Amino acid sequence: MTSQRIAFIGLGNMGAPMALNLLKAGHRLSVYDLHAAAVDKLASAGAQVAASPADAAADCDLVLTMLPQAAHVEAVLLGEQGVLSTLSSEIPIVDCSTIDPASARRFALAAAEQGNAFADAPVSGGTGGAAAGTLTFMVGADEALFEQVRPVLAAMGKNIVRCGGTGTGQVAKVCNNLLLAISMIGTAEAMTLGASLGIEPQVLAGILNTSSGRCWSSETYNPYPGITEGAPAGRGYSGGFGVELMLKDLGLATEAARGAEHPLLLGALAQQLYQAWSTQGGQGLDFSSIIRMYPHAS
Ligand code: NAD
Repeated sequence: MTSQRIAFIGLGNMGAPMALNLLKAGHRLSVYDLHAAAVDKLASAGAQVAASPADAAADCDLVLTMLPQAAHVEAVLLGEQGVLSTLSSEIPIVDCSTIDPASARRFALAAAEQGNAFADAPVSGGTGGAAAGTLTFMVGADEALFEQVRPVLAAMGKNIVRCGGTGTGQVAKVCNNLLLAISMIGTAEAMTLGASLGIEPQVLAGILNTSSGRCWSSETYNPYPGITEGAPAGRGYSGGFGVELMLKDLGLATEAARGAEHPLLLGALAQQLYQAWSTQGGQGLDFSSIIRMYPHAS
């Protein structure tokens, strides 16, 4: 693939390893982040350091952003020193942050007013997937834009899926994480009930994982300690996908559901459980630590 000049903004836990993979693939990067330490790491790997989002975007073929929330994306794209203040028309913007679908559609409209296409492309796969270049990208874009940006995304991920028009990448992400939260709580409830009723947790997990209760949370990321090798449950719930990030994604789901007047019965309960857990010991822990709300979880 031909080398591109990419403006990469937001070099946190996810953005930094993603940007490093783009460098490894031979692209030239102009990077920006509010934190100097994050920028230094990329600079020593060969990226050019920009003074602002506008500076990063001034001379590039593509803009990529990986930021915490919609307010940050708004500042980076539409702010005074924002990307759209210098970006040439027809240069596409791909936002990989997890934000609400309505904001993604709003940013697409603002970009279109200046002749720039915008794709939402949130990811799953976590920091491990970002480092390994095996992320899944859920892309909301028209087909032409999707084909244009796919080769660049393929340097950071192995599963690049077009979900539909603008915003649908965020819709897919929000629905996936909603189900993940619910299935994790369900797995925690079933595992601890089994322990309370006297079955060996290892035996119960074996039954669940060969029966109709099986899911990713029970099989690949079991919240009960000692079941899944390498899962955060085996190391005191450190690392992984934090309670706060799950809480943020459940907020996006309930907010989007409210906009669509769609009832979110289990999602609302899952959000309240994570809200309670984040103030009762879960802060800073992996989201599977929700099992500690139940008796019989160590
Ligand atoms: P992070 O907090 O580690 O990194 C965000 C970076 O953005 C930080 O370096 C911060 O300094 C920078 N930033 C914030 N505002 C900025 C601004 N105005 N200008 C320039 N830089 C700015 O977050 P992360 O874990 O890398 O997550 C990024 C996004 O990816 C989030 O939306 C998150 O929900 C999503 N996500 C995270 C994971 C994960 O496992 N961490 C997995 C999938 C998706």
